[in-house]
Amino acid sequence: MIQLQQIGRFYRQKQTCIQALQEVDLQVEAGEYVALTGPSGSGKSTLLHLLGCLDRPDQGRYFLNGQDVRELTVPELAKLRNRRFGFIFQGFHLLPRLTAMENVIMPMRFAGIGGRPAEDRAQALLQRMKLQDRLHHRPHELSGGQQQRVAIARALANRPEILFADEPTGNLDSAHGHEILLLLDEIHRQGTTIFLVSHDPNLAARARRQVRLLDGRVESDEKGPVADPHESLRPDHGTGIQDVAGES
Ligand code: ADP
Ligand code: MG
Repeated sequence: MIQLQQIGRFYRQKQTCIQALQEVDLQVEAGEYVALTGPSGSGKSTLLHLLGCLDRPDQGRYFLNGQDVRELTVPELAKLRNRRFGFIFQGFHLLPRLTAMENVIMPMRFAGIGGRPAEDRAQALLQRMKLQDRLHHRPHELSGGQQQRVAIARALANRPEILFADEPTGNLDSAHGHEILLLLDEIHRQGTTIFLVSHDPNLAARARRQVRLLDGRVESDEKGPVADPHESLRPDHGTGIQDVAGES
């Protein structure tokens, strides 16, 4: 599904040039759960932004389902991100003046879905995030964990093929962080491809595949044990959002 060839990205600042990524090759199949790991400054966020078409590489090529994304126009890229990608970030990035419902409805609006269908879907997603009694709260009226669950509901609004998460538990305590990881596990089990950026090897260990960056290069790329790492996360022990990705 995803093929990166010799990707480079550098930031020019006055006299210096920071090579944030260099010679990155990566191939990812649909349905994989990939952790991008490595120390601070190793290029994880830069790579995630490139993969999510929030940024463009300076060198190399990125093929998405065989299409060279360089050939896409700005509106085509916006449409791609809206319809096929979902994003969650460390800082939640919810719109502060909008309620939970309105935040989740927003990406559907961009996709041309409004009215009752959008409201019903937003309500169903928030219900599955256990936020049914917080539909009309604004972000500042919610805890960090609740805000991140709204952000996940929003990311799933248009049934993305790929979910990109950049340190999604970074602003949460461990219990709420764990809850978010359980949700990602469930979303992955529904067939969504996930990229999880984390500098924490314990969090990254939840993904089957770990791509470790160092100084902008892929240092290692390892697939975890074939044994199911989600043993304790079977649907009967899960968060009850089993049908969230495929729900219509
Ligand atoms: P990570 O997410 O692994 O901490 P980043 O991808 O954010 O790493 O950054 C990789 C490198 O690129 C770092 O050296 C960082 O300082 C630099 N960098 C990132 N974004 C910018 C930017 N907008 N301008 C200049 N340098 C940047
Ligand atoms: Mg980062």
